[in-house]
Amino acid sequence: MHEITILSGKGGTGKTTITAAFSSLAESVVICDSDVDAADLFLIMQPEVKQQDAFISGWKCTIESTNCIQCGQCVTQCRFNAIIENKDGRLAIDPFACEGCRLCERICPQQAIVSTKNSGNTWFESETRFGPFIHAQMGVGEENSGKLVSFIRKKAKEKAIETSAQYIISDGPPGIGCPVIASITGAKQVLLVIEPSQSGWHDASRLINLIKNFKVSVSAIINKAGIHQELELVIKDELEKLAIPVLGEVPFSMLFRHAMIEQKNIIEYAPKSSEAEIIRSIWKALINTDKVFKLNKQESEYVRF
Ligand code: SF4
Ligand code: SF4
Repeated sequence: MHEITILSGKGGTGKTTITAAFSSLAESVVICDSDVDAADLFLIMQPEVKQQDAFISGWKCTIESTNCIQCGQCVTQCRFNAIIENKDGRLAIDPFACEGCRLCERICPQQAIVSTKNSGNTWFESETRFGPFIHAQMGVGEENSGKLVSFIRKKAKEKAIETSAQYIISDGPPGIGCPVIASITGAKQVLLVIEPSQSGWHDASRLINLIKNFKVSVSAIINKAGIHQELELVIKDELEKLAIPVLGEVPFSMLFRHAMIEQKNIIEYAPKSSEAEIIRSIWKALINTDKVFKLNKQESEYVRF
């Protein structure tokens, strides 16, 4: 099975739009929404949930005030300054600062600190008109989205084996942090969706610097082509120097927005449009490209304009 992760480095480049369109073109596929912090692929997929479960990761600690003798040991030992005095003068754990290391629980002489497992995240296995869809929803204030990404990718692989799917298409997270690393590790291919804007190229460059650490096939497309032609030429030139093939240029077009409003991808919404034709040719090129990314550190520095 062949796992393709769609990444951009920056949100709003059209990565989800492209993923949704590819879902129509792959004959046997499992779709995975690895952008768990801002999952929105379900809006087009309209999934019918078949199974859902809590994703358990990390620990949450709380102080039982009645047992606490205010000795202060936990306050001084917590490396994250997560134990604070609340407005009643009692000690409490700030859930946003706490890293769940459980040191305070171990050192408290009164056993006044108790820990429970985090279970605010939920993962889903759904059916869609394109095939199985693995996705997740993060609870308010929940962390460990990298672990959640690894988990749902594992579930997507299991589903692909079970259904003998040829492809896993994964809508990756933005940025260059832990969730992105979790979305690349072990994938066969990465497709970069690059928006020709200063921020689009800046963030894509940072992502390229990250990807150089992985043995993965990398290619790129320019999305929203035409919004900054001069920059587009520079980006293509830089990608050529980095030996990253550009598989196509998708023009900026309101058709994509109209398709989204109808909860369809461009292949469904306007199958005969030139936009749909470009996406088809990119998909064809993508599944036929197998270029392993090789980059030396000097070449991978972000190029300023
Ligand atoms: S270590 Fe235990 S007893 Fe001491 S202040 Fe912290 S919670 Fe209270
Ligand atoms: S679990 Fe770790 S990070 Fe959280 S309050 Fe206790 S010592 Fe600090």
